[in-house]
Amino acid sequence: MYCKYCGQQLAEGAVFCHSCGRKYVEKKKKEPDEKKEFIDVKAYWQNLAFFKKVCFIFTFFVAALWSALLTVSFFVG
Ligand SMILES: [Zn+2]
Repeated sequence: MYCKYCGQQLAEGAVFCHSCGRKYVEKKKKEPDEKKEFIDVKAYWQNLAFFKKVCFIFTFFVAALWSALLTVSFFVG
């Protein structure tokens, strides 16, 4: 790998450039992306769990409404 500031060839895994003294940050730059991806996956599963909850409540609501309608129609009819 090469220093992105001065172009000096660096040892693999070097943290600082021995030529210009700057911190070699390319390796650290990848970490936030991985973390972001992890958060996105987590948010996706949270959204899915929320969607499942909404579906369950909606189904329960429709079932309750339907049984109430049947009961009313039984007494009215
Ligand atoms: Zn350098």
